[in-house]
Amino acid sequence: MITEKIEKLLEEVKGLSTNNAEEIEQLRIKYLSKKGEISQLMNDFREVPAELKKTVGMKINELKQLAIDKINELKENTGSAQTQNSLLDLTRTSYPIKLGTRHPLMLVQNEIIEIFQRMGFTLASSPEIDDDLHVFTKLNFAADHPARDMQDTFFIEADNENVTNNVILRSHTSNDQSHYMETHEPPIRVICPGRVFRNEAISARAHCFFHQVEGLYVDKNVSFTDLKQVLLSFAREMFGADTRIRLRPSYFPFTEPSAEMDISCNICGGDGCGFCKHTGWVEILGCGMVDPNVLEACGIDSSVYTGYAFGMGVERITNLKYRVSDLRLFSENDTRFLKEFESAK
Ligand SMILES: [Zn+2]
Repeated sequence: MITEKIEKLLEEVKGLSTNNAEEIEQLRIKYLSKKGEISQLMNDFREVPAELKKTVGMKINELKQLAIDKINELKENTGSAQTQNSLLDLTRTSYPIKLGTRHPLMLVQNEIIEIFQRMGFTLASSPEIDDDLHVFTKLNFAADHPARDMQDTFFIEADNENVTNNVILRSHTSNDQSHYMETHEPPIRVICPGRVFRNEAISARAHCFFHQVEGLYVDKNVSFTDLKQVLLSFAREMFGADTRIRLRPSYFPFTEPSAEMDISCNICGGDGCGFCKHTGWVEILGCGMVDPNVLEACGIDSSVYTGYAFGMGVERITNLKYRVSDLRLFSENDTRFLKEFESAK
């Protein structure tokens, strides 16, 4: 009796065919659910005489496996049928693909990189979360030096006893330079673009993060005149062939001597306007000869090699090129603002 029932069900299951998902679910319930046909058989199985239990048990298992396989097969076919249908829908109307725009900061950063690459600089990068050793100590910031206050940053783990243990968000991309000098022999000629973080109140003129591009050149006989010529070439490429530069003495812990560089105001051509506060000049970057202490701290012999470094804010250069009045616009993701740069290259 039970064997006949099993045979009948085996035939039934073999012949199942549908590609309707609801029907497949009904079949699953009919055969495989707790109250389904196969569970019923298990109840009847108790009555089977002991000598037949083995054969009948195997048959039931065969039926169960067949039902599972068949239902899975039906499910798969439905899935592929649906995919095929959606791919083959030739009646669908075409639609324009919306192209995004490049972010103004990245437009300018790419332009800066391109200019320096043409002068033989290669790209380097390092982590945004770094340790005190690479962000400050190796760059000649003594543990209690007030210059650290110029770059108030975010400490992730602070160890007041030993600052070199501190984990921080880098306050400048100069950590690229310390990492690079540690791992490479001169001649070194790299530019390091990236995001940096400072503990600033957010306003139209300051933000808690911004972007920098730094450059480093270390080799034998590198002098300040090399630095000046490279920066002049950069300024003329970036702001036009008539651009003039001037260097003013300044102070940075990692360079000696240090300077800040102004360019002739690219809006009034140096005649004086509101943008340049009627001076005819606008500041764009800081630079100087790498302090021998920095070279030594990074494993480079300062009696053989000299070098220069410079660093600029990408936001600052972008403001000069596109006259964006509020720094916050760069990070608000307002597409109306970003669309303004659609035609920029
Ligand atoms: Zn001006």
